[in-house]
Amino acid sequence: MLNLILFGPPGSGKGTQAAKLEKTYGLFHISTGDMFRSEIENGTELGKQAHEFMSRGELVPDEVTIGMLRNRMLAHSEAKGFIFDGFPRTEPQADALDHLMSGMNQQIDALILLEVPEEEIVHRILKRGKDSNRSDDGDEDVIRNRFRVYQSKTAPIYNYYDKRGKAFKISGLGTIDEIFSCLLEAVDSLRV
Ligand code: ADP
Repeated sequence: MLNLILFGPPGSGKGTQAAKLEKTYGLFHISTGDMFRSEIENGTELGKQAHEFMSRGELVPDEVTIGMLRNRMLAHSEAKGFIFDGFPRTEPQADALDHLMSGMNQQIDALILLEVPEEEIVHRILKRGKDSNRSDDGDEDVIRNRFRVYQSKTAPIYNYYDKRGKAFKISGLGTIDEIFSCLLEAVDSLRV
């Protein structure tokens, strides 16, 4: 079993790297952002609720997010392990994840932070916004708000795992393959 959290600001490349890790280690990738977008596309009640927050660059309330994540994990309890992408983003979410993992007799093995500075983030997301139809990617104010929310509510989660010796930091700058090889090095050093 291997359970990883890919961590970092919006636009740091978590989704791209998670897809590669998923293939390499046969893990189940859970992206809360993708889950919300699919709820929105399907016009569900949860999607309507989430859209309100996402369009402003705010976090969806913890109880909604945690409930959705719990269902997804329980539905895939046979997985060889999970890659969490975009979760946890707050301390209550980190507590809930611990709880869920221990209920499955598992634990988080590592959190890996992809470090990318704010100006690069804004540049990348505006570029992504031109090619995708993500409504939260087109507006610079919304993007900067997402970065602010990340710094105030999410970045402190790094220490939560660092205290247990489970946090790693790598540069999110460089080519996709360069970053991926740093990730592999970090994961292979875990020897779980
Ligand atoms: P990015 O990290 O590039 O901003 P995501 O796809 O991870 O993109 O998330 C998009 C939006 O979905 C976030 O700005 C937030 O509104 C919502 N969201 C995703 N994951 C969470 C979470 N764990 N808790 C609360 N809101 C979330």
